[in-house]
Amino acid sequence: MLQGSTGVGITSPVTVLPGVGKTKAEYYAKLGIQTLGDLLRHYPRAYENRGEICLLEDARPDAKSAVILTVGTEPRVVRLRSHKTFLKFRAFDDSGVCEVVYFNQDYLKNQFRLGSIFRFFGKVERHGKGFAMSSPVAEAWSESAQLPPLWAVYRMTDGISPKQIAKDVAMALELIGGRGEDPLPEHLRRRRGLCTRAYAERNIHCPENWQALATARRRLVYDEFFCFALGAAMSYRATKTHGAPICANGDIAALTAQLPYHLTGAQARAIEEIRRDMARDVPMSRIVVGDVGCGKTVCAAAAMLIAVQNGRQAALMAPTEILARQHYSDLAPIFERLGISCALLIGATAAAQKRRIKEALAAPDPDRRIAVVIGTHALLSDGVAFAAPGLVVTDEQHRFGARQRAALSDKNAHAHLLVMSATPIPRSLALVLYGDLDLSKIDEMPPGRQRVDTFVVDESYRERLNGFIEKQIGQGGQVYVVCPAVEEQELPPDELALCEISSEGSVREEQAPLKAAVSYAEELQKTFPQYRVAFLHGKMKSAEKDAVMHAFSEGTIQILVSTTVIEVGVNVPNACLMIVENAERFGLSQLHQLRGRVGRGTRKSYCVLVAGGTGTIGERSRARLATMRTTYDGYAIAEQDLAQRGPGDFLGTAADGSVRQSGGLAFRLADAGEDSATLTDATCDARAILKDDPTLQEYPALAALVQATFAVDAGLIS
Ligand code: ADP
Ligand code: MG
Repeated sequence: MLQGSTGVGITSPVTVLPGVGKTKAEYYAKLGIQTLGDLLRHYPRAYENRGEICLLEDARPDAKSAVILTVGTEPRVVRLRSHKTFLKFRAFDDSGVCEVVYFNQDYLKNQFRLGSIFRFFGKVERHGKGFAMSSPVAEAWSESAQLPPLWAVYRMTDGISPKQIAKDVAMALELIGGRGEDPLPEHLRRRRGLCTRAYAERNIHCPENWQALATARRRLVYDEFFCFALGAAMSYRATKTHGAPICANGDIAALTAQLPYHLTGAQARAIEEIRRDMARDVPMSRIVVGDVGCGKTVCAAAAMLIAVQNGRQAALMAPTEILARQHYSDLAPIFERLGISCALLIGATAAAQKRRIKEALAAPDPDRRIAVVIGTHALLSDGVAFAAPGLVVTDEQHRFGARQRAALSDKNAHAHLLVMSATPIPRSLALVLYGDLDLSKIDEMPPGRQRVDTFVVDESYRERLNGFIEKQIGQGGQVYVVCPAVEEQELPPDELALCEISSEGSVREEQAPLKAAVSYAEELQKTFPQYRVAFLHGKMKSAEKDAVMHAFSEGTIQILVSTTVIEVGVNVPNACLMIVENAERFGLSQLHQLRGRVGRGTRKSYCVLVAGGTGTIGERSRARLATMRTTYDGYAIAEQDLAQRGPGDFLGTAADGSVRQSGGLAFRLADAGEDSATLTDATCDARAILKDDPTLQEYPALAALVQATFAVDAGLIS
């Protein structure tokens, strides 16, 4: 354990700190702080720059400043009628005299002796011919006293003052900081040029200077990534050791015989990997990643067949009802021809039908049992239990959080798990996102796929674009129009004296007016009164969404205006034109996903990216989008996205605000974008260390840190 000589360690409760009792501990719990380790990982959200001393007359009017003043008059307490008091005195430096005031803090009177010198930090205001400061932070100053130049600012909660947090952190550092072994193996620390953990913890909270702060931060960011990568990989290994149903009969000829095509080499390889996994008693944990349209569904079907052939049941969970229905209508006929019973279980399934399905899933008699069930997260609901669980498949995994994925496999602890995703993940992120899964990559498209011709245009093409829409629909095609979700623009907080650790250097882009789905659909309906225009957005009820999607796939709607909710694997082969408005707001990977919604049938298909913005900003975004004209490889696009926008698109939230990857990716200090080089180093080191020592037996301090941090940060326990 990471313990100091006092027997106190990172897992000790905060109540071991003097002055922290039950009440304070409850307040701390509100900040997610229960142990000393949690407290030390409650990193400052910003730092006050108190080390940069100026003269009163040079103080900026709009920000807090640090000044060194000598107390020039005896402090006087003034009582007001309202029982309030204020303490008042004058203090000076070489440039002027300042009136200093504190409200309701008479007890400070003795601190400010005539002639004593303080470093005051606060807003300096002009006051007559002189200056005034109201309730500044005061620290006794002398030439020899080493006052810290940077002062941590913490996220707070009621009941705990900033001072209290600073004091408790300092105490925690004293108790456990620097005691015991550095959790990071020495050879890694040296190779990556990192400071010790003790130095990092001290300097992130009480930095000696900016340099020390940067050094500290680099180490802690590394540790966050490193622990996450280790934790993800180890939690998988720990739970997946044995107990899975051995599915030795991996013959899928009955399936392939029914397909109107031959499997691609990549599909065959993925199926072979699945077949090998399922023949063992170690539960499979595999993800099949491949570009939209590469044919992942048939891999899932093969796995499901293998499970059923070996006397087991298989479940396929899709993120939306529309997608679940689509899988069901594609797969059920195939399975039924093989004499395999198949059911659809979604929220919209009638209650009586639901009950029958649940009974048939749990039926002890194999002849009366449903072997294959396809559905949405309705499959996770209570009362869904399998008599002989064999395989769980989740489709379009990026739409599910880690928790939901875990929920379905927890329900069927020993079942084989197969996950499918169309989001090509840059290599450096794969371990972070899918560290617990083995990877099958489908890097080959079925033959004869046509390319979706892509154009980048600006507003001046609007007329021509409308003409193009008309032409496509005139020829019997259908059109998607995607708009970004409208977001409130947030202004940066007016805290000029606060120096945020991660400097935000980005230029605020001038935006073209955002096309919001609903109003834009109305606009388009006016432009095209002869067609049916409908809209789709994330806030609609799922039944409404399904109805619209259904009408679109039936062809009764010609133009579908939508936020990115249609991004997920829906198949409308007749759709041949994808228009993306404000395309500059999307990541390239996301645009690639959107583009994958067309070109799924025999019609020649097009993608038009309408980029807003004017001047150089407009030019820059059009240049970025131009990649889409020439590149059709999802992985190449993903790598570009990572380089240009950071990994937010893969880790964070989507443009429509929905959470793409929940669980485990909210790092405290690290910014997977800014720190992507460190992310690559740390994940690579984690992989290497586990290869030789899968349980970290030789690194007890590291194992303890992973244990103390991973589960909390991964959202596995809250
Ligand atoms: P995704 O990987 O996006 O889930 P699907 O599994 O939905 O892709 O497949 C897309 C389309 O490609 C489907 O219509 C499917 O029938 C077809 N398909 C899959 N594999 C092949 C193949 N090897 N040859 C030809 N068409 C294929
Ligand atoms: Mg799919």
